[in-house]
Amino acid sequence: MRTIDDFTRPLEYLSPLDDPLGMIVREWAETYVIPNRRRFDEDWKDHRLIEPAFKRLMGELGLQRVLFPEDLGGWGLGRSNYAGTSSYRLFEEVARADSGMAVAFGVVFWPLVMICMEPHVNRELCEEFAPIFCSTPEPRFAANAMTEPQGGADIENMEIVKGSTIQTTAVLDGDEWVINGHKLWPTNSGGVCNLFGVVCTTNPGSEDPNDFAFIFVPADTPGVTQGPPYEKAGMAADKNGDIWFENVRVPKHYRAHGPGLDLMYFKEVITFGNLGSIAFVGGSMMNVYERLYQFVNQETYRGKPLKEHDAVAGVLADIAKDIEIIRIVGYQYARMIDRPDLYGPRWGEEMVAKGRAYKYWACDRAMEDVGKAMNLMSLYGADRDWDVEKHWRDLKIVQLWMGGKQLCQAEVARWFFECQTL
Ligand SMILES: Cc1cc2nc3c(=O)[nH]c(=O)nc-3n(C[C@H](O)[C@H](O)[C@H](O)COP(=O)(O)OP(=O)(O)OC[C@H]3O[C@@H](n4cnc5c(N)ncnc54)[C@H](O)[C@@H]3O)c2cc1C
Repeated sequence: MRTIDDFTRPLEYLSPLDDPLGMIVREWAETYVIPNRRRFDEDWKDHRLIEPAFKRLMGELGLQRVLFPEDLGGWGLGRSNYAGTSSYRLFEEVARADSGMAVAFGVVFWPLVMICMEPHVNRELCEEFAPIFCSTPEPRFAANAMTEPQGGADIENMEIVKGSTIQTTAVLDGDEWVINGHKLWPTNSGGVCNLFGVVCTTNPGSEDPNDFAFIFVPADTPGVTQGPPYEKAGMAADKNGDIWFENVRVPKHYRAHGPGLDLMYFKEVITFGNLGSIAFVGGSMMNVYERLYQFVNQETYRGKPLKEHDAVAGVLADIAKDIEIIRIVGYQYARMIDRPDLYGPRWGEEMVAKGRAYKYWACDRAMEDVGKAMNLMSLYGADRDWDVEKHWRDLKIVQLWMGGKQLCQAEVARWFFECQTL
């Protein structure tokens, strides 16, 4: 019988950790998530069912520690040359079970990319924040707070807008930053965050890259308020909400790197966001394949399994072809991230643009394919017991975040066609 492992992985360049880690996560998914996920939608607010699964994955199995250096209790992934490929495998495996859990898990590392990745490790901040994640069996969450009420896409559109629309301000007062602002939607907000990475400006309206500041704020700092989680179409395991920063004071050295460098390395955060998004799409589609495989084998039409009819087989081929290519493209991007010696810096405009291209292509293919799968499944396509409608709701969310499709298109056109004004 064919399985999701028959879709191609680039075996010649995977780390020896890829399979053992992948199998640990698969076993976790099959024990803690897949049997329960049907009830996760109703658990969006309280996370009574969801929390034990996070605890097992992140705290007890220790996967929330992977990016930190080994001597601080981490697994040293940030210093390896397989952070991209290993992350891709982990995110794909989690997303196969639940892409809301995958994004919540992935975003734990998202702001930490700023300080844990070679060649720009900020050792002082790693030492400061490693204990939050590395010295407990409880799940701990980080969040990357970019989006604001006036718009999220503009803040990510750094090449053109250059941070000029950011309204969250950071003012230096002696040895402390004083932060004021309002953020929306960060994954792992809605009350669960332990550590925020906050996108700020030191000079509102400025297009000077030196005025972009990325500052870490522990969630229990006075003046930080997290609102309740929003109720959204899917991804119940990811809590999103408002965060208000009112005269929040943090030490001066909580700024990730300083003028110019914060903006530069923040583009690497975007690169990892796109890698994660492709892996979430790929993982969800792996499970759509598994459920569809079962359906077209067990359902019959005119005495034959559904899959043995020409018209159905054509649709199945289209879906399988796209899943195969999404995995190949995702791993290729992961490999580009792991080999800056060949493909250029992870924070380069080229890497960001290519990540946007792969992300929006994967989302478009998946949205079309999951719709086709539901058509084949007819009323079972909408039946929650078959899980495909869950992936349909979740995949749509991946398509919408990180600036949506339009920002992806703008950045891809800008890089490949050298647009000057978009
Ligand atoms: C589940 C989930 C998780 C999220 N996680 C995070 C997170 O971790 N951190 C965070 O900060 N935010 C997060 N977000 C927010 C998300 O990234 C934003 O919603 C997204 O960037 C779009 O921003 P916006 O909603 O403010 O829309 P806007 O930026 O206001 O955009 C509105 C519309 O204009 C389009 N548009 C924007 N720019 C252009 C352009 N140049 N040309 C043409 N059209 C354009 C957009 O595509 C969109 O259709 C999350 C959202 C969701 C749903």
